[in-house]
Amino acid sequence: MAHTLFTSVASGDMKNLQRREELRGLASLSDIAFMNQSHSNTVAQVSDASKVVDADALVTTSRGLGIAVIAADCLPILLSSPQAVAAVHAGRVGVGNGIIDRTVALMQSLGAREVTAIVGPAICADCYEVSPQMYQEFVAENPEAATSAEKHALDLKRSARVQLEKLGVVTRDVGICTLENHDYFSFRRDHTPERLAGVIAL
Ligand SMILES: [Zn+2]
Repeated sequence: MAHTLFTSVASGDMKNLQRREELRGLASLSDIAFMNQSHSNTVAQVSDASKVVDADALVTTSRGLGIAVIAADCLPILLSSPQAVAAVHAGRVGVGNGIIDRTVALMQSLGAREVTAIVGPAICADCYEVSPQMYQEFVAENPEAATSAEKHALDLKRSARVQLEKLGVVTRDVGICTLENHDYFSFRRDHTPERLAGVIAL
């Protein structure tokens, strides 16, 4: 099993070198690669932590290199296999834009077999109310995210799990809602730059 960690960080700005140092210490990893996340469907393969790439998913086959996703309500998803690991940032946009599929495809192209996933702390279906219009538009494309038209809240965790399982990825959800659990930061609750970091290394 790959080395995985979900932990709160005081700032989501991982350009801050002190935050990176703290996270390296927490994860017991000498190098962790970060990404500039923008709700894109860009997946990047990295082999070192020398630069912060523009992507919303990182994949590596380099042993001992940590890769990190930063989130606060969005889903941090860590993917593991004996050959490659990945860290994915998937909020409402990411769950709808195919980044999960693209990440698993890149892992498989690198020889990954028996891929498993952990969905980290993220906003739950009870807490993620959106406008009725956004709800209708999203569930038209992603029916697994539906709750009820009256409630118009999106179940992003279920949608992500269904996508992963369709790809043959055995998926575990840690079952923590960031908005309800004050051990984690929630952008909806706090409106602050604090985030959670999910880190995985092969
Ligand atoms: Zn919740």
